[in-house]
Order: sequence, then structure tokens, then C-alpha cells
Amino acid sequence: MMRIADLIAPGIAGIKPYEPGKPIEEVERELGPALPAGGVIKLASNENPLGPSPRAMEAIRAALPDVHRYPDGGNFFLRRALASAHADLGIREEEIAIGNGSNEILDLLVRTFCGPGDEVLAPAQTFVCYKLSAQARGATYVDVPRRAGFAYDLDAIARAAGPQTKIVFLANPDNPTGVYAPVDELRALMRRLPDHVILAVDEAYHDYAIADDYPDVLELRRERELVVAMRTFSKIYGLAGLRCGWAVAPSEIVHYLDRVRNPFNVSAVAQAAAVAALSDVEHVERSRRANREGMGIVTAELSRMGIAFVPSQANFLLIDVAPRDGREVFAALLERGVIVRPLGGYGMPHQLRVTIGTPDENRRFLGALASVMAAP
Ligand code: PMP
Repeated sequence: MMRIADLIAPGIAGIKPYEPGKPIEEVERELGPALPAGGVIKLASNENPLGPSPRAMEAIRAALPDVHRYPDGGNFFLRRALASAHADLGIREEEIAIGNGSNEILDLLVRTFCGPGDEVLAPAQTFVCYKLSAQARGATYVDVPRRAGFAYDLDAIARAAGPQTKIVFLANPDNPTGVYAPVDELRALMRRLPDHVILAVDEAYHDYAIADDYPDVLELRRERELVVAMRTFSKIYGLAGLRCGWAVAPSEIVHYLDRVRNPFNVSAVAQAAAVAALSDVEHVERSRRANREGMGIVTAELSRMGIAFVPSQANFLLIDVAPRDGREVFAALLERGVIVRPLGGYGMPHQLRVTIGTPDENRRFLGALASVMAAP
């Protein structure tokens, strides 16, 4: 008798599927008549609580009549807009790759450069998709331990990189912890990594970071050859549902990613929306300010409540509900109509990740958390 499990490619059996944030509709369905006043709010996927830019929405509407046509497989206008928006950094169009979310780009990097016997390195407990992509290719994934308080240990990463290492992934700022690699430490890592290793810096939350020593890899990339900087339209640009991300890399890397990717990997609507969103600097600024204010209020209130959290450079917070079990607190928050992210799957049984929302959403979350933590 044939067993499908015997047919799958190496590495696939060990994959634990990605657990996305629970959708609002699903929680509403589950709560049924117990749905709290104010409905369900989602602070589980680090989305922009202000929504998409009005300019992007206009571009989406304008793109709709042409959806019977295939998109531009070369992403011409979006690459041109990105190059011109970053003209001060001298980024050329041929150094830009566009993906179906930055998730596709990181996956393409692994698919293009790694196979069985190759190693992918990343800090322990970081964004899980680096590991999923490595496993799907049958490559070896190496978790590099952190220092206390989830701080990155870039020394340890430099020491762990060897002849088999193909890619080092570094989310900066990190998801789910919100920590970041300061410029000096990142520079030192760039110098110390063996020349053959690709350093892929995932800057999905770049636009939220405010620390003085937070580095911009689009600048630093000049100092080392094999650097890839990944960005996304899913976070501050508010277009997570359309799936569009981008990367800046040596043009030869972009060229190889082009061989591996699907021909029409980014929809026409997403490309048009991304071009428009990029031009809406006011929306980005408004979103950044709202996040900073929300972050200030939520962290002040958590401190007042005596709930520990990791200082964050992103649009979310890792909070520690010990000795309570994170899943149990997550479930109790769900009953109160607040969706956050439990992190048991990241080996963090007492931690939750919560996205900074609108002022109302933040109040709902803080009120619900206070009532859950007060309950025995
Ligand atoms: N990198 C990091 C660090 C993330 O947190 C996410 C989204 N959760 C992504 C990449 C992927 O985002 P997208 O594919 O929507 O660009």
C-alpha cells in the first residue's frame, strides 16, 4: 500500500504549519451570542490599525477594470517608484526584487541558494518563516541562542557561521520580541561573516524603529557585498491583504530570484496600490506617530499593572504573563473579544504578542487584560 508520507521531499515531514493570527470573523462565529459589546478586535498580526492609505484605495479602484489582464511580471512601475523614492541611497531598479509579501522573498532566497547540506542561521525564537522555508528545502536550520532579555547575540551568530552556512536571517526589528540590532553590532557582524554568506536583514518593521542607533541597511549594504535588505507594504503601508514586499540586493541575486519566482507573483492591484502607498508619506507619518503614542500609553499602563514587557522598536509588544499560561490568558482575552498572539509555538509559554492598535483598541486590550489578570 502506497503511503503519501513516504513520497514527500526531505524536510517536509518535520514542518509544523505556520499559525496565523485568528481572523476576526472566526472569533465572532465562535463567540456567537457571547459576542461582547464593541465586537471583536484583532491585535494579533501587526497590521496597521489606521488601514490603507486613501491614495492606495483610489489606486486599487482604478486598477480593478483591468483585472482580466495579467499583471506586469517585471513590476516595472513599482521598481521604478521604489528606486526613485530611495534615489538618495543610489538604489538601482535592477537591484530591486518584488515579492508576494516579503515572505515570498525570503522563501525565494532560500529556494535559490539552499539545498540539503546547506545551513540557514537565525537567532533563536525569531520569525518562524525562515525556518519553515529552510525545512521545505531540506536545508539545515540553526537557531543561535540570544542573550538575556531576548537581546540578539550577533557575536554568537558570527561564530556559528561556517563553510556550510548560506544565509543568515536577521529581523531588524525582530518579530516577535521587538528587539533590534544596533548599528555598531550589525556592522561588526557584516565584517565578521565569511564572504560567501548572504546576510538577509528583514526590515518589515523598519518604519516604526526610532532608536538613535537603529541602522538602515539600505545604507550599510555598501559596506559588504552579500547583503539583502527586505521590506514590506504589509505593515506601516497598511496593505497586508494585498501581499506585496520588496528587497534590495546585488543585481545578480535579483536576477537569480527572477529565475525561481513564479512569472506573475504580484497582482496588478497590489502593484498599483504599492506605488500609490509609497507616495503617501503623510499616511506613513500619521501611522508612525499613532504607533509611537499608542506604544507610550500601552507600556505605561502595563508598567502600572506590573506586567513585564520587552522594550520594542516595532508596532507590537512581547508581554510576559508569568506565572500564568500564555494560552490560557490568550483564550480569556478571546472571550472578551480581543485577539492577541500566544507564543507557545515559539517556546515562550508565558508570553503573548500584542499589536499596538487605535486608542480605542488599546483601551479595550488593557481593560480586558486587567480583568483577566485579576481573575484567579
Ligand atoms: N518578516 C517579519 C519579521 C514579519 O513579521 C512578517 C509578517 N508577519 C514578514 C516578514 C512577512 O510579511 P509580508 O509577507 O506580509 O511582507
